[in-house]
Amino acid sequence: MDTARLISLDREHLIHPVSSWRGHEAAGATILESGKGAWLTDSEGRRLLDGFAGLWCVNTGYGCDSVIEAGRRQLEKLPYATGYFGFSCEPAIELAARLTRHAPGTLNRIYFSLGGSDAVDGTLRFIRYYQNARGMPQKRHVIGLEKGYHGSSFAGSGLTALPVFHRDADVPLPWQHHLPSPDPYRHPAGPDGEAIIHASVRALHDMVASLGGPDQVAAFYCELVQGSGGVIVPPDGWARAMQAACRELDILFVVDEVITGFGRTGPLFACAHEGLEPDMMTVAKGLTAGYAPMGGVFLSDAVYETIRDNTPPGVAIGHGQTYSAHPVSAAIGLAVLDLYEGGLLDNGVAAGRHLAARLAGLGNHPLVGATRAKGMLAGIELVTDKAAKAKPDPKLGIAGKLGRYGYEQGILYRAFADDVIGLAPPLCCSTDEIDILCDGIVAVLDRVMRDPQVADAMRG
Ligand code: PMP
Repeated sequence: MDTARLISLDREHLIHPVSSWRGHEAAGATILESGKGAWLTDSEGRRLLDGFAGLWCVNTGYGCDSVIEAGRRQLEKLPYATGYFGFSCEPAIELAARLTRHAPGTLNRIYFSLGGSDAVDGTLRFIRYYQNARGMPQKRHVIGLEKGYHGSSFAGSGLTALPVFHRDADVPLPWQHHLPSPDPYRHPAGPDGEAIIHASVRALHDMVASLGGPDQVAAFYCELVQGSGGVIVPPDGWARAMQAACRELDILFVVDEVITGFGRTGPLFACAHEGLEPDMMTVAKGLTAGYAPMGGVFLSDAVYETIRDNTPPGVAIGHGQTYSAHPVSAAIGLAVLDLYEGGLLDNGVAAGRHLAARLAGLGNHPLVGATRAKGMLAGIELVTDKAAKAKPDPKLGIAGKLGRYGYEQGILYRAFADDVIGLAPPLCCSTDEIDILCDGIVAVLDRVMRDPQVADAMRG
């Protein structure tokens, strides 16, 4: 089918995730056709360096023969196996066993979901099962972070704290609350790490007290780098301090590693940076590197055993999906894990070091207020006045310009809400490819700055 026909049918029939329906219809889709390594080709034959790994997920890069072959073999052998009523299948069992060996603390069991949103939704359900099993049904409130993203299921979208997910959606739910983001660039306590940690721990204690005390609060959720909120890297030691505060308050510490998992920040799981031992952990994305849908919820021994031991024999835990632990996704997950274990993480660490060095150089650009990076996860925050840290006026339409100019430059990244460029290149990138990406970003920023309206705004 030719591109014009595809765009027209897309406009008429396909609803896109998190998009302006009117804007999408007006602009029309870019049709992606094929991929190899870190590169995509669209339906017009334009090659694009994918600096966002699809949607922070294609950590291995595109076209990995071993992953494709693993999926093909499993499709031939057994395309589907239910996990209901006593059945199981080898790839899911092997993947669960290998993942839990890598997972932090006592996260010795995993429930496989279809992606990140239903993994988060699963945690919210498991939390209720757990607190009810402990005989503490009044422990119901759940606390997340401003600028947090935890998917777009009904309950998860309320735990998320980004305006676009709340507008007209009747969330957050009454038991969902948010603390200030530990954002070193914009935290009221200033950029000092210790001050932010102190303020965050204080804010958690204060919020728990305002909700009626620890007896009323079930869990605290965080990403270890806030992804969709603008790639916010909390100060070192922040997550450890929050975990300690949760233990002190007897509330569950839940870590969402949907983005940060699978080498995105260096180690297989970002929990390793600070030796965290969460009570629950969610994963998705890099688990299958985007080659098939799959996510997962890890449960600690204490959580799992409390639910198991307090449910009468023969009574089912009513949480499940037809495609949980899907054998093709699991076989793909195993092949992807082989790649991580076989040197891909090391390549990501080396490429991430180069990325961080290049971003540090970008800090001098007149449009750049801050840069931050952890492994192959990075953000560039744009301002129109550095001293005042002034966010670009939405009327300037910077996000749209960034998208268009990047495409014309042959690079892909994510433009968040007009003021942050998000980067998450595949871990297979060479340093040359990181250079192409960063040189392209400089060219895009220069072009944005030459825009008369933007230039005016920068002059104040
Ligand atoms: N949690 C986090 C931290 C995420 O970044 C995302 C997706 N970007 C999700 C949950 C939801 O995952 P999915 O889009 O696979 O449902």
